[in-house]
Amino acid sequence: MKALDELTFDNRFARLGDAFSTHVLPEPLDAPRLVVASTAAMALLDLDPAIAETPVFAELFGGHKLWAEAEPRAMVYSGHQFGGYTPQLGDGRGLLLGEVYNEAGEHWDLHLKGAGMTPYSRMGDGRAVLRSSIREFLASEALHALGIPSSRALCVIGSDTPVWREKQERGAMVLRMAHSHIRFGHFEYFYYTKKPEQQALLAEHVLNLHYPECREQPEPYLAMFREIVERNAELIAKWQAYGFCHGVMNTDNMSILGITFDFGPFAFLDDFDAHFICNHSDHEGRYSFSNQVPIGQWNLSALAQALTPFISVDALKEALGLYLPLYQANYLDLMRRRLGLTTAEDDDQHLVERLLKLMQNSGVDYTLFFRRLGDESAALAVARLRDDFVDLAGFDAWAEQYKARVERDGEYSEAQRRARMHAVNPLYILRNYLAQNAIVAAESGDYSEVRRLHEVLSKPFEEQAGMEQYAQRPPDWGKHLEISCSS
Ligand code: AMP
Ligand code: MG
Repeated sequence: MKALDELTFDNRFARLGDAFSTHVLPEPLDAPRLVVASTAAMALLDLDPAIAETPVFAELFGGHKLWAEAEPRAMVYSGHQFGGYTPQLGDGRGLLLGEVYNEAGEHWDLHLKGAGMTPYSRMGDGRAVLRSSIREFLASEALHALGIPSSRALCVIGSDTPVWREKQERGAMVLRMAHSHIRFGHFEYFYYTKKPEQQALLAEHVLNLHYPECREQPEPYLAMFREIVERNAELIAKWQAYGFCHGVMNTDNMSILGITFDFGPFAFLDDFDAHFICNHSDHEGRYSFSNQVPIGQWNLSALAQALTPFISVDALKEALGLYLPLYQANYLDLMRRRLGLTTAEDDDQHLVERLLKLMQNSGVDYTLFFRRLGDESAALAVARLRDDFVDLAGFDAWAEQYKARVERDGEYSEAQRRARMHAVNPLYILRNYLAQNAIVAAESGDYSEVRRLHEVLSKPFEEQAGMEQYAQRPPDWGKHLEISCSS
């Protein structure tokens, strides 16, 4: 276990030089205090969890103190936002503090979000509010616990610093961790500004640090792009299987590691709704739940365009062609497991589609349906779940098909079925209304609810005594909450 001053830095991105990022110091928050910390994320840095409660922790991650070896940098990137190209974005309110490596030799970027103005702040104030910082913290750690690749969050630090959004709020900082903070938009920036040398340096950096095995391939850059396509197909399959809606899938929010990145007005589905739009400024539904699949491919095409100096167009197209089949295979595999199936049959896709259509038409809770389906035998479970559906004849027909499919799948006890299904079907997800309750309490200075919610969500598949209220459908006020897009 390490103390805070024992972290070991190796700032490889900073060493790329001033064409890639600018040195900026964090702007401290007034009266910084710990809101919540993740012991699991602290363990990734070998940090003793007890130090989260010490004043120096809040001072470091509230922008007051800095390690001598840290090299805080604001990164430059660009990206396609809602389909249109924005020539320059960059870290407008976040700083890459440095890269730390742990005893296992893993490197982690420490990124402080809400750290004040940078050369890339454009019209913004460089700040992040408590509300959005809590949402990012809870989501990163909850996605990770669900087995969905994501950036991680070490802590949220709250403050007295006033920040003006639709109303006056308080500033906060969230310490984000990831093996890399490089986005599709980094490659786009150097491509569109016609800086081939820097672009090559960036590509070498990503290849060496994150895709070293691709070096062995005849065309390393192509192999790397193929990996990025595969990882994104797998990631989005998980989002769709678990009902996660990102909300702002701009290419500057897409990670070259294929992890969930940059949290804004995201939401988990409560009722199943393929057309759900969680971002209220997304009037055309570009980033609606079901559109995440084709948008994943659109974003990869934007990255491919930026890689044309290194890879032939034909090869890029071929690699892009891997996306949909891979997505479908991964998605179907997950959905089979969610249905308790251990074998594959040709008609399984149809079985899933029919179920989702029935759920859509009846507004069935997406998470609880699968959890309850695994509670008992297929016959008993469908008999109990039947009441949630309006189209009873439709559900009965599906249930017959499902029971026959389960029978063909093999013989196993009810207990085996439950254990297998509960291991993939969470009981607890980050519902918007749960986050909202925690935020309201935190805004009045009570951090117990955000801490409890974080704890519950860190074991989403395990039934936890006394936590029944976190596994409920939303109350009326908590359905279709308008989550502010300002953050
Ligand atoms: P986002 O919507 O959070 O992905 O941010 C898009 C771009 O706007 C990024 O370049 C951010 O750094 C920048 N940005 C967002 N909010 C602020 C803010 N309050 N101050 C400065 N820049 C911001
Ligand atoms: Mg962003």
